[in-house]
Amino acid sequence: MTRKPIMAGNWKMNVDHIEATGLVEKIHYALLDKDYDPAKSEAVLIPPFTALRTVRTLIDGDRLPFQLGAQNVSQHDNGAYTGEISTAMLAKLGVSYVVVGHSERRQYFGETDEIINAKAAKALAAGITPIICVGEGLDIRKEGRHVEYTLEQVRGTLAGLTAEQVAGLVIAYEPVWAIGTGEVATPEDAQEVCGAIRQEVAALYDEPTAEAVRIQYGGSVKADNVAQIMAKPDVDGALVGGASLKPEEFAAIVRFYQ
Ligand code: PEP
Repeated sequence: MTRKPIMAGNWKMNVDHIEATGLVEKIHYALLDKDYDPAKSEAVLIPPFTALRTVRTLIDGDRLPFQLGAQNVSQHDNGAYTGEISTAMLAKLGVSYVVVGHSERRQYFGETDEIINAKAAKALAAGITPIICVGEGLDIRKEGRHVEYTLEQVRGTLAGLTAEQVAGLVIAYEPVWAIGTGEVATPEDAQEVCGAIRQEVAALYDEPTAEAVRIQYGGSVKADNVAQIMAKPDVDGALVGGASLKPEEFAAIVRFYQ
């Protein structure tokens, strides 16, 4: 596989900027223990906005082998959007990834594929790689419509992006019923949808684009299930929530590709 695997830890609305210092150091020590080589895979830390600066400073000061990610970004450039954060602000902090369309943003903040698409386009224009989240809820899964539902989200969120842009971004398949629930999709479930996403990218663009785009699985990934899921050919990494707050556990997940 020529795609560089990517393991990302989304801390969600946990960890203030002081606690972030401890968490970053603990993850780093847990990795150092086992000779972590960042050339083999990427590790992305995704703290809340208020801890971005702190984590950036730690990464730079101690030359830590992490990329910095943000959990959200505005689709607007600047101006009267109280409470919003722009791509330019993130870029200035050295943020290289941004999660767009997480299911919690879709569910609690009304984000649609159109909004997520606009955010992804803005991120790309600012030189930030979007991690575009897609995935079905339990009702859709029970109806057996999970593939078509997720592919609809893929088409909506990629609309108007060029092949070159899509080749460089990350799509995270996160079945909503497996997020924070302890319910993990089976490796076969993950492969079914990740494979379908890659085929859809090939149909929308071309084979080289589909071969290049990285597709993560997310949903209750832990140290003890990461190997089976990552073994699937169309899964290029994990987007991790709860386990990313546990240094040893997250380090074990990050180390999978070592
Ligand atoms: C997530 O929120 O993206 C996620 C995958 O969470 P968890 O790992 O806790 O299921």
